[in-house]
Amino acid sequence: MKIVVVGAGAMGTLFGGRLARAGHQVVFVDTDPARVAAIAVDGVWENDSPALCEAALPGVVQGEADLLILFTKAQHTAAAMAQNAGALRPDGMVLTLQNGLGNDVAIAGVVGDERVLVGITNWPADLLGHGRIHVVGRGMVKFWSLTGEDNPFIHKLAAALDEAGLGASAEPSVKVAIWEKVIFNAALNGICALTRMTVGQVGDFLPARSLAFRVVEEGIATALANGVAVDGDRVRQSVEFAMANHRAHKPSMLQDVEAGRPTEVDAIQGGLLAAADRHGVASPALAHCTALLRSLDHVVRSS
Ligand code: NAD
Repeated sequence: MKIVVVGAGAMGTLFGGRLARAGHQVVFVDTDPARVAAIAVDGVWENDSPALCEAALPGVVQGEADLLILFTKAQHTAAAMAQNAGALRPDGMVLTLQNGLGNDVAIAGVVGDERVLVGITNWPADLLGHGRIHVVGRGMVKFWSLTGEDNPFIHKLAAALDEAGLGASAEPSVKVAIWEKVIFNAALNGICALTRMTVGQVGDFLPARSLAFRVVEEGIATALANGVAVDGDRVRQSVEFAMANHRAHKPSMLQDVEAGRPTEVDAIQGGLLAAADRHGVASPALAHCTALLRSLDHVVRSS
């Protein structure tokens, strides 16, 4: 397949590198000229495994790709699609495995609902430098079409991702998994970012822990009110598991705050809060966390 990976950060490098090593023709697109230049010269590296790939600035690649994988942060989704949709052939598909709610709608606004595939991944990847990532452990990918309809490309892509070692499955009920991940992220990532605590520290300190579980309960109520049949116990257990087993982890939202970068608050906490408001679900804990995270973003953007 001809694949354009838009966003050559941690996740784009992981997926693009593995797909290139599996024999696909991969081009990375990124707004950072230094990143594009480094990848064009040295390729991408996952731990000690290299993959030679092309790289370009937005808008340069035109009209041939079968697939565009979008791996920008959520706040860049709309701009990235507007700049790079021309890289796809007319019936080419877009896959988003980004965190948060609303990426699918922003993408569909550019290419139409029937060309969007949505899903989640829990692969962990840390960016060490341009085109260089560190990956420890394993993850999985689940995705399906935005419209809910089956089509042969879904299965072709699941097989390609699986053969590339990315542990993929075509999953018609992926919407439930997306919402369960958003609830988890809204609770833990947000409170870690606000308190600058690791996941384990949030679990150990009762006021932070209680706040996290209040956000979880509000998120579960919101999902159910929106007709998404999340499994409340599974979400609670995944938060408990992370608090007990991923003790030193700093979620990406905390890493963004520490590095003085904007966060994905609008897609994660903001997306969940908008869904709560649509159905009149009282969400005071989520609302306060969202306001505080947006305030942190405001300081970053205005400095
Ligand atoms: P990242 O910040 O490492 O990379 C994003 C890249 O997008 C950057 O290189 C940036 O320059 C580029 N970019 C920004 N605007 C662009 C545009 N208009 N066109 C092209 N490129 C543009 O982010 P990441 O950690 O790879 O995360 C990507 C998504 O995956 C996020 O939604 C994140 O929440 C999700 N995610 C990350 C992980 C992880 O372990 N890192 C795991 C699961 C999901």
